[in-house]
Amino acid sequence: MIARVEPLTTARALRGPFDYRVGDALADVAVGSVLVVPFGPRRLLGVVVEVAESSDLPPERLAEPIEALEADVPAELVRLGLWVADEYVSTPARGLALVLPPGTGTGSGRRTRPRASLTAELTAAGRAALAGDGPRLGSRQRAGLEALADGPARVADLGRLAGCDHAAVRRLEQRGLVSVARTVEAPGRAAVRGVGARGGVRELTAAQERALAEIVAALPAGPRRGRPAAPGGAVAVGGSDSRAGAGDTASAAREGAAAPAPLLLHGVTGSGKTEVYLRAVEEVLARGMTAIVLVPEIGLTPQTAGRFVERFGDTVAILHSQLTVRERYDEWARLRSGAARVAVGPRSAVFAPVQDVGLIVVDEEHDGSYKQDGDPRYDARHVAERRAREAGALLLAGSATPRPESVSRHRRIRLAERVDGSALPPVELVAMAGVQGPLHQRTRDALDDVRRTGEKAIVLLNRRGWSNFLTCGGCGRVWECPNCDVTLVLHRGEGRIACHHCGHRERVPDRCPDCGSVSLARHGVGTEQLGVELIRLMDPLPVFRLDADTAARGGAGEALERFEAAAGGVLVGTQMVAKGHDFPDVTLGVVLDADATLRFPDFRAEERTFALVTQLAGRSGRGGRAGRVVVQALDPEASALRFAAAHDSDGFLAGELARREALGYPPFGSLIRIVCSSEEPEPAASAAEALLARIRGAAIPVLGPAPLFRLKGRERFQLVVKAPDRAAAIAAVRAAVTAVAADRSHGPVTYAVDVDPQ
Ligand code: ADP
Ligand code: ZN
Ligand code: ZN
Repeated sequence: MIARVEPLTTARALRGPFDYRVGDALADVAVGSVLVVPFGPRRLLGVVVEVAESSDLPPERLAEPIEALEADVPAELVRLGLWVADEYVSTPARGLALVLPPGTGTGSGRRTRPRASLTAELTAAGRAALAGDGPRLGSRQRAGLEALADGPARVADLGRLAGCDHAAVRRLEQRGLVSVARTVEAPGRAAVRGVGARGGVRELTAAQERALAEIVAALPAGPRRGRPAAPGGAVAVGGSDSRAGAGDTASAAREGAAAPAPLLLHGVTGSGKTEVYLRAVEEVLARGMTAIVLVPEIGLTPQTAGRFVERFGDTVAILHSQLTVRERYDEWARLRSGAARVAVGPRSAVFAPVQDVGLIVVDEEHDGSYKQDGDPRYDARHVAERRAREAGALLLAGSATPRPESVSRHRRIRLAERVDGSALPPVELVAMAGVQGPLHQRTRDALDDVRRTGEKAIVLLNRRGWSNFLTCGGCGRVWECPNCDVTLVLHRGEGRIACHHCGHRERVPDRCPDCGSVSLARHGVGTEQLGVELIRLMDPLPVFRLDADTAARGGAGEALERFEAAAGGVLVGTQMVAKGHDFPDVTLGVVLDADATLRFPDFRAEERTFALVTQLAGRSGRGGRAGRVVVQALDPEASALRFAAAHDSDGFLAGELARREALGYPPFGSLIRIVCSSEEPEPAASAAEALLARIRGAAIPVLGPAPLFRLKGRERFQLVVKAPDRAAAIAAVRAAVTAVAADRSHGPVTYAVDVDPQ
C-alpha cells in the first residue's frame, strides 16, 4: 500500500504530498494517520492525506515510514484542514496543524492521568455543628460549613467563594465536621463550574418554541451511513472550490443527501437564544449525532459554556484556551472516542474531532474572535459552514447583532422579545463637543442615581491604559514607539508607557530628553484612569475593571464573578464588558466615545459600532428592573448610533446592505488583503508592485500598494483585492504570492495574506 504523506514543515517551498511504501507492520495506516517519516537525512512528522494501491514512482525509490503515532485524525478533518490551507492561501502543513491532536510532535500529547481535585462534604457531626449543637466555630469554618449545606463542593471553590481556605478546611476535617475526598474530573470543566446555573430545565416561551421547531425541522434525521476510508479506496482531498471541484462532487455523492441550508437565529439580547441552542443540541444527541457549539472566548463568557455543562454533564467537552496541552489532549481524546459528544469552545473548536456531527452552533456570530490573527487567517464561521455542508449538518448562527453577510445569506428566525417580557432599555445619545473631562453631565447624573440606589452599572470605554499619549510642554515632543509609528500609551499603575502593537515598554519619563522640560502633558482617557475616576464618583459602591491588562493578570473571570456577586457596583472596561454576560440586575449602561470606531477608515466600522452599542445596551434592564443607557459621542447623529439607540437592527441592516452593494463590499464581493513587509522599505515595496502586476494580469481588480504605518520594526505595503468571484480571486492571489515569494530578487520579504479581513 502507498501512503501519500503531507509533511508538517513550515517551509512554503516543500510541497507534498510525498509517497511512502507501507509495509505489514503499519497495516492499519489510513487517511488521518500521523506518521514519522524519513525525509532526506531528516525525520519529519506527516499526515496521511490519501492511500493508494500504487505510486508513479518505482517501489525501490519509495521509503517506508518509521512509525505511526497513536492518535489519528478523522478523514473528514484531514479534508477540512487542507481546504482551510487552500481557502486562506496558507500551506497544507499549517492547515493540517489545526486538526492534529493537541501537542502532536511536542511529546506532551501523550495521555496522562486526568487532573484530580479535592472535594469536601459535610459529615453528620458537621451538619449538627451547623445547626448549632456542638463545638464553637471560627468565622471561616462556619462560612465553609454553610457553603457545604447544599451538598459537596470543591475545596478550591470554598476558598474562593466562601473565604474558607485550605487550612480552614483541614481544621474542619481534623474536627470530624467534613470529609475530604480526591475526585477526578474532566479538564476544562473547572473554569465554568457553577456559573450560568439559573435553575434547571424550564418551559420555553411561545417564541422560543416556534424557533426551536423550525430548527429541529431542519436537522438531519440521523447519522450518515457508509462513511469513507475503506483501506485502498482513495479519499478525495478537497482543495479550494476552484481547484478541486471534482473532489467536492465525489465526496458529496459518497456521503449521500445534501446538507440543510444554514439558519440564523436573530434574537434581541435576553431573548433566550442559549436555551434554544440547548434544546437543539438535546435533539441532535437523541438522534444519535454529535454537536459543536462555538462561543467567543470562554474566559470572558463562561456562562454559556456553564449552561451546557449544567445540562449535559460529562457528554460535553469544553475546549478552553487556558487548558494545558495535556488537558486539551484529554478533551480531544474524549471527543475522538465518542465519550464526549458535544464540543463547546472558541474558534478552534470548529475542528473538534467528533464523528457524525449533526449541528454546529455559532453563538454571538458577530464576534471578532472567530477570525484567527496568524496564518492561516481562517474565519471559524466560514469554516463551520464548510464543515456543516460537507458533513450534512445544520449550521445555526445566532446573535442580537448578526453580520450583514449572514443576514443576506442565511434564512432568519426571529426572537423579537426578551423572555422576561421586559422592554429593551431606552438609549440616550449625548454630544461631547465642548464637554470638559470624560463624562457628560447626563452620564454623571445617571451614575449618581445608581450610586444612591445602590444598583449596578456597566461602563464601556474601548481604550485601555491611563491616557493615550504624552507630549512635552516645552518642545512639543510626542512619545512614540521605536518599532512602530504609533504613540506610547501611559499605564500609570505599572509606571510604564507601552506600545499596544508590539509590546515595547519603557519607564514613564520625568523630563523631556530633547529639551529637558519637566512639564509633560497627558492626553485622552483610558479605562485605567476612568476606573479611578469612577471609584471617586461612585463611593461607596465597588468598581471592577475588565480590560486586557486586568485579564492578563488573571482577573477576567474574577472581575465578572465579583461584579455578579456584589449587591451594587460598577463594571468598567473595554469591549470585553459588552460580551454576552447575563447579569439580571444591571440598570445602567454607559458607552464613552462611542463613535471612536467610526473615525477609522474601515468598511466594517459601522457594523462594529452598531454591535458594540446594541450589545452593551443588551446588558441593561434584564430580570425585571428597568434599565437605561447613555451613549456619549462626538457626533451623536451618526447613523450607526441612531439605529442602535432605536434598537432598529432591521433598519441598520437594510442601510448597511444597500451601502455595501453599491461599493461591492462583502457579501457582494470578497476582500483579500495582502501585506508585504521588510525591515527596509525597498524590498516590500518592490514585492508589492510585482504582486500588483501579476494579480492585475489575471484580470482580478486590486488596489494599492498603500504604505501602512511601520509595525514591529517593519515597513509595510498593502494590496487589497475586491472581487465578485471569490474562488478566482483566491486562486490569483495564491499564484501571485507563490511566484513573487520564490523570486529572490526582491530581497527578504514576508507575505501575509488575509482572506475576508476583519
Ligand atoms: P440571549 O442569549 O438571547 O441574550 P439568554 O439565553 O442569555 O439570552 O437568556 C436570557 C435569560 O433568560 C437567561 O437568564 C436565561 O436563563 C433566561 N431564560 C431563557 N429562556 C427562558 C425561559 N423559557 N423561561 C425563563 N427564563 C428563560
Ligand atoms: Zn521637550
Ligand atoms: Zn510598537
